[in-house]
Amino acid sequence: MVEDVAVDGTVVVGLGGIGSAAALALADRGETVVGLDPRPPGHTEGSSHGHTRLVRLAYFEDPAYVPMTVRAWRLWQRLERRSGERLLTASGVIALAPAGDPGRLVPATVEAAARYGLPVEHLEAAAVRDRYPALSVPDGWEAVLEPEAGFVDPEATVRTLHRLARDAGADLRPETVEAIEYGDRPVVHTARTRYHPRKVVLTAGPWAPALLEERLPLTVTRKVVAHFTPRDPDGLGPDRLPGFLTGDGGALHYGFPLLPGDGVKIARHDGGAATTPATVDRTVRPEEVEALRAELARLIPAAAGPLLRAYTCLYTMSPDGDFVLGPLPWAPSCIVATGCSGHAFKFVPLLGEVLADLVLGAAPAVDVGFLSPARFA
Ligand SMILES: Cc1cc2nc3c(=O)[nH]c(=O)nc-3n(C[C@H](O)[C@H](O)[C@H](O)COP(=O)(O)OP(=O)(O)OC[C@H]3O[C@@H](n4cnc5c(N)ncnc54)[C@H](O)[C@@H]3O)c2cc1C
Repeated sequence: MVEDVAVDGTVVVGLGGIGSAAALALADRGETVVGLDPRPPGHTEGSSHGHTRLVRLAYFEDPAYVPMTVRAWRLWQRLERRSGERLLTASGVIALAPAGDPGRLVPATVEAAARYGLPVEHLEAAAVRDRYPALSVPDGWEAVLEPEAGFVDPEATVRTLHRLARDAGADLRPETVEAIEYGDRPVVHTARTRYHPRKVVLTAGPWAPALLEERLPLTVTRKVVAHFTPRDPDGLGPDRLPGFLTGDGGALHYGFPLLPGDGVKIARHDGGAATTPATVDRTVRPEEVEALRAELARLIPAAAGPLLRAYTCLYTMSPDGDFVLGPLPWAPSCIVATGCSGHAFKFVPLLGEVLADLVLGAAPAVDVGFLSPARFA
C-alpha cells in the first residue's frame, strides 16, 4: 500500500554531488529535509565517480562563473575544516595549447584571471619544460598556470556530505523517485510513498531529463576515462605536476598527476555519444583506450604505461553548456540543478548553498540568474 507523507519542508531528489550538498545546506538552516536516492554515496553509475575532479578558478568557459569559482574554493576549504576530511589537493592546474589555437583555452583563462585579479602565470613552452620536466610541450605552444587551483575527490566528497547532512538532521532514504507531480503543491512518488513537501529540489544528474518529462532541452553523453600506470613515476606526483588541460584543434583533454592506486588519469571533455543512464554502453573499447594513451604519450611520455583501468561516466548537457539552475518555469516550487555539462563538481558546496537560498527565498551570495531554466522557455 502506498503511504501519503506530508513533509513540512523540502524533498531532495537525487543525492549525488549536488543533491547531497543541498541536503546539507538546507538541514544546516533548520529546514526539514527528506533526501531520496536508491544508490549508495560514491556509486559509479552517474557523474560523480573517478576519484578526481579539477577545481579551477580562472574560468575560460565564461568569466561570469568566476565569482562562483572563488566562493566555491572557500567553501571547499570550509567543508574540509568542518568534516576533518582531506578532499582538496591544491596541486595547481596548467592549461596548454598551441599559440593561436581557435579554442582560446589559454587566452580565455588569462582574460578571466585578469578581469577578477586572480593569480596566474602565462608561460612559453620552454618555461613549462624547465619547470615541469615531465611535460613534453612543443615549441609554439603556450600555457597558463593557476597555482591556486587543484582537484577534489568526488566519492569522498559525496560520502562526507551524506554524513554531515545526516548529522545536521536530514532524513536520507534509499528510495527511487518514480515521478514528480509538478504544481503549487508538488507530489513526489516512490514505490511505497507519496511525499507532499512544500518544495522539491531536483538533482538527479543524468536521470533528471526523464524526471523532468523531457521538458528541458537536455541530453546525456557517454564519456570514457582511463588511468595508466606510468613507465617512470619520477616527477609525476601532485607535488611536482599540476592538474592539466590541453586544447588542440577543438579537442579538449584533461588529466591529473600520479596518485597512489590511481595512476595518471586522462579523459576527453568534448564529444561523446548521446545516451541515457538506462542504455549506456559501459564497455570501453580498446580504440578508446588507445586514443587516450596517445594523447597522454604526447604530453607526458613517462606516464603512458600500461592501462590500470578504464570506465564510463555521464555528462548531462544543456544546449549552451551552462548549468540549468533555478525554479522550473512551469512549477516554481521545484528547484532544479542539472544540465551541468561536465563542469559542475568544482561548484558542489556552492551549488548546495545556492539551492538552499532558492528554496528559502534568500538572495544567493553570487549571481546565478544567467543559469535560470527560464532561458529555455
Ligand atoms: C568523467 C567526468 C569528469 C568530470 N570532470 C570534472 C571536473 O574535472 N571538474 C568539474 O568541476 N566537474 C567535472 N565533471 C562534472 C561533474 O562531475 C558533474 O557535473 C557532477 O558530478 C554532477 O553531479 P550531480 O549531482 O548532478 O549528478 P550525480 O552525482 O550523478 O547525482 C545524481 C544522483 O541522482 C540519483 N538518482 C537518479 N535517479 C533517481 C531517482 N529516480 N530517484 C532518486 N534519485 C535518483 C542518482 O542515483 C545519483 O546519485 C566531470 C564529470 C564526468 C562524468
